[in-house]
Amino acid sequence: MTKPRYLTKSRFKRALECETKLFYANKKDYPDQKIDDPFLEALAEGGFQVEELARIYHGGGTLVEGMDYDGVLDITNFLLLKEKVVIYQAAFKFENLFIRADIIVKNGNKLDLIEVKAKSIDGKDSMDFLNKSGNLDTGWIPYVYDVAFQKYVVTKAYPQFEVCSYLMLADKNARATVDGLNQKFLVVRDKEGYPQIKNRYDLASLVVGKEILIKVKIDDLIGRIYGGTDRAEPPSILFSDYIKMLSDYYQKDERLETPLGGKCKKCEFKCEPDELKAGFKSGFRECWKLMAGFADADFEKPLVLDLWDYKCKDRVIEEGKYFMDDLSDDDIGNSKPKKSGMTRTERQRIQIQKAVDKDDTMDLRVGELKDEMDSWRFPLHFIDFETTAVAIPFHSNMRPYDGIAFQFSHHTVDKKGKIKHEGEYLNVGRGRFPNFEFVRALKKELDRDNGTIFRYAAHENTYLNIIYRQLQEASVNDVPDRAELCDWIRTITHNSGSVAEQWEGEREMVDLLDMVKRFYYDPKAGGSNSLKAILPAILNRSKYLQEKYSRPIYGTSTIPSHYFKDQVWIEMKDGIVTNPYDLLPPLFEGKSDEQLEEYITDSTLAEGGAAMMAYAKMQFAEMSEEEREMVIKGLLKYCELDTFAMVLIWEFWNNEVHK
Ligand code: SF4
Repeated sequence: MTKPRYLTKSRFKRALECETKLFYANKKDYPDQKIDDPFLEALAEGGFQVEELARIYHGGGTLVEGMDYDGVLDITNFLLLKEKVVIYQAAFKFENLFIRADIIVKNGNKLDLIEVKAKSIDGKDSMDFLNKSGNLDTGWIPYVYDVAFQKYVVTKAYPQFEVCSYLMLADKNARATVDGLNQKFLVVRDKEGYPQIKNRYDLASLVVGKEILIKVKIDDLIGRIYGGTDRAEPPSILFSDYIKMLSDYYQKDERLETPLGGKCKKCEFKCEPDELKAGFKSGFRECWKLMAGFADADFEKPLVLDLWDYKCKDRVIEEGKYFMDDLSDDDIGNSKPKKSGMTRTERQRIQIQKAVDKDDTMDLRVGELKDEMDSWRFPLHFIDFETTAVAIPFHSNMRPYDGIAFQFSHHTVDKKGKIKHEGEYLNVGRGRFPNFEFVRALKKELDRDNGTIFRYAAHENTYLNIIYRQLQEASVNDVPDRAELCDWIRTITHNSGSVAEQWEGEREMVDLLDMVKRFYYDPKAGGSNSLKAILPAILNRSKYLQEKYSRPIYGTSTIPSHYFKDQVWIEMKDGIVTNPYDLLPPLFEGKSDEQLEEYITDSTLAEGGAAMMAYAKMQFAEMSEEEREMVIKGLLKYCELDTFAMVLIWEFWNNEVHK
């Protein structure tokens, strides 16, 4: 018997990103680069724990277990015969649509349909999902449409019930009233690799305190979706017809063609070269051949999709401009210079020119960069933070998804150019709120002199602002040095969104990423400015660094290190320097950083995806002492390399400007 081709909740969500993906999804010959590991997904954002907490709030329910479609539908049907019942993971089917609902509360002929999401909301009703123009905000579309789809199936399957729909989210304005709540929800892998909460049934008697999740009724928004009035542009077909179209195409296993656009940049159906060689199919290539008439050779040309920070991809692709070469001056425009160095559009023009001319030389603004570098004070300090945000707070009085800074690394360079891995901090304790200890340790590291401090991107400034706010909210009895720490944070930061006050610190950190964007473009970084892309670019560019770091000087008295010994950073393969990050043992066996970052939907956190996942594993998953030791070692090495990579950028530039 052939398996039914149901349009499920997850397939519907995938179609919302791009309807064509339905054709490639779950087919062995089309590799899917978005790995699907529910256990890692559960760890990444605490979704599993949030769902468990929501079940506790709706206690006394029955969990519908099993994967067999008919079996779970029968159980649900049977449970719904009761006058009053709470069901977790109830199953509903209408034609070839099939869903599992997180929580159903039945009372007479009323059904509450509750979808639980590991996402926070700073508000209390459905109006908070609207943008300034009164339309559904883009960020909320996947969540609200998901419930709209579920309500459609439930209403069609059981027309006799009146269905009310809710999104249950972490309430940013709530505070936990009990300590150690999140450690009650430890995640374990079951035999099939799926996440399970340890001791699930003991949780029924758990004291969880005041609710930290908020249930928002969204039937008004769903009504607007059904009527086609939720967005500025009315849709070409009604929601019900849209569902029918998707499910028909999916059932017949036919490709639903959709316009190409900026969305294709991150398409998961791209093949790696070795996969193509092995005979696998690339959904991405099929789409571009079909819709844009591409030949194989066209995939080798620089595409508009790869242009850095370009916001008009959809428009130019719609106009048939697929290659960087096709873009006119007007397509790029001119951004106004705010500081010295390249502007955004100037940098884009440089990228286009170099890509089209196959020009591999770098563009380093030596004069302007030197002026900037001359203003830096020795000893130079390079810092990097690893952070996370947990759904269920560690302590009473904390809010859901409040920031946690669990690790930093620190390198210094003195006036004579002596490099040293100076120090670090890593919270290894389970269930501890580390932020105040973290900032004390950081202050101790940086307070010894007045040297320039470097960060890479806004992250360190943002997190110090979060800690500043947390300190302000803490009691003096609990944190006696509160004022001293706050005063110090103000000296090295500027205020960001999370605090109301305004300041610019006299020793404010310098953003090395901003320096890269303004003074250095290198085709070897492939249009990316992330530290993981810039590091191999400079190592492949600089003969000076290649020569110096081919020798085992890192982790010796020449360059002291805490976690490396006699390390050689230059390893050549086919004439190319191997990315030093690839020389480290993976934090998760078989998973690349990029794959792990796919699990983090909060883009401000994604860069440190691998470290964040490793920390979540230490905090919330069961692991042996040996495994724990390995994760700790891995985290320490990763973070040390992050700050050493920043030192190498400085060293490369320093060598170039003094040539
Ligand atoms: S290549 Fe583009 S159109 Fe094709 S499936 Fe991917 S995102 Fe959709």
